[in-house]
Amino acid sequence: MSDDKRIDGKAFAESLRERVGAEVTKMKADHGVTPGLAVVLVGEDPASAVYVRNKGKQTEEAGMTSIEHKLPETTAEADLLALIETLNEDASINGILVQLPLPDQIDEQKVLATIDVEKDVDGFHVENVGRLWTGGDALVPCTPYGCLLMLKDRLGSLSGKRAVIVGRSNIVGKPMAALLLAESCTVSICHSRTEDLPERCREADILVAAVGRPEMIRGDWVKPGAVVIDVGINRIDAPEKGEGKTRLVGDVAYAEAAESASAITPVPGGVGPMTIACLLRNTAVAAARQNGLDDPDF
Ligand code: NAP
Repeated sequence: MSDDKRIDGKAFAESLRERVGAEVTKMKADHGVTPGLAVVLVGEDPASAVYVRNKGKQTEEAGMTSIEHKLPETTAEADLLALIETLNEDASINGILVQLPLPDQIDEQKVLATIDVEKDVDGFHVENVGRLWTGGDALVPCTPYGCLLMLKDRLGSLSGKRAVIVGRSNIVGKPMAALLLAESCTVSICHSRTEDLPERCREADILVAAVGRPEMIRGDWVKPGAVVIDVGINRIDAPEKGEGKTRLVGDVAYAEAAESASAITPVPGGVGPMTIACLLRNTAVAAARQNGLDDPDF
C-alpha cells in the first residue's frame, strides 16, 4: 500500500487547531472576545477523565479559556441542570459540553435539552439536530464534522458520490448522513438489520464505518477507489505485544481495505484527533455568533 493513501488525521487536526488558534488571536485583538469552553464531567470514568483533560489542554493551547466542572458520581439531576443554567447565563462561557455517558439517575436527554442551543458545541440539542437537517446555522457534532473536512480535503466536491454509512447513532451515523446529503451525496445508512451489508458497502464511493465492532468491514467490501473513513475505536487483546497487552483497531480491517481504497483513515491517528479539533472549531464559531461576528472560515 502506498503511504499517500493514508489520511493523516493527526496532522490534519494539528493544522485545524492552528487555524482556530489564529482566529482566536484575531477575535481577541479585533473584538476583545476570548472564547470560553466549559466541560462538565460527572463521575470517575477513567476514559472520560482522559478526554476531558485533553480537551482542556487543547482549548488553552488554542488561546481559549477552559473551565472544568468535576461532579461526583452521585450528583442529583437537579444539581447538574442548575449548573448548566448557571453556565448558560455566564457570558464568558461560549461553549458547554457535558461528557457522556452520564450516571443512571440523570436523564441524558433532559440535560442536553437544558444546554443553551447557541452554546451546544457538541451539537446534540434537538434544535441543532433540526437545524442541521433543515440547512440552518447548526452547531454540528464534532466527530462527523471532522470526517466531512477530511473527505472534502481528499475529494474536493462530494456532489453525486454514493456514500454508505454503517451505523445510525445520533452522535455519528445520523449527523454524518445529514452532512453528506447537504454536500449532494446519495446517502445510505446501514445498521444491524441491513440485509447484505457487504454488497451495500461495495456500492460506496465514500464508506464511513461507525459501528464499534473490531475490523468488521473487510477488504472485499470496499469498492476499488473508494474513500474509507473509519470512526470505530475498539480495544482488542494483543498477545503479540506481551501478556495482558491490548491495542486499538477500527471497524475496518485496515490493511485489506487499503488494497482497494484510494484513501483511508487509520486507527489510531485518523478520525480520533479531529474530534477535539472540531470541538475547538465549534467553540470559536459559537463565540463569534454570540458576539454578533461573522462565522470564522473553517
Ligand atoms: P453506537 O451508538 O453503539 O452505534 C453503533 C451502530 O452500529 C448502530 O447503529 C448499530 O446498529 C450498528 N451496528 C452494530 N452492529 C452492527 C452490525 N453487525 N452490522 C451493521 N451495523 C451494526 O456507536 P457510536 O457511538 O456511533 O460509535 C461507533 C464507533 O465509533 C465506536 O467504536 C466508538 O467508539 C467510535 N467513536 C469514535 C469517535 C471518535 O472520536 N473517533 C467518536 C464517537 C464514536 P443498530 O442501530 O441497528 O443497533
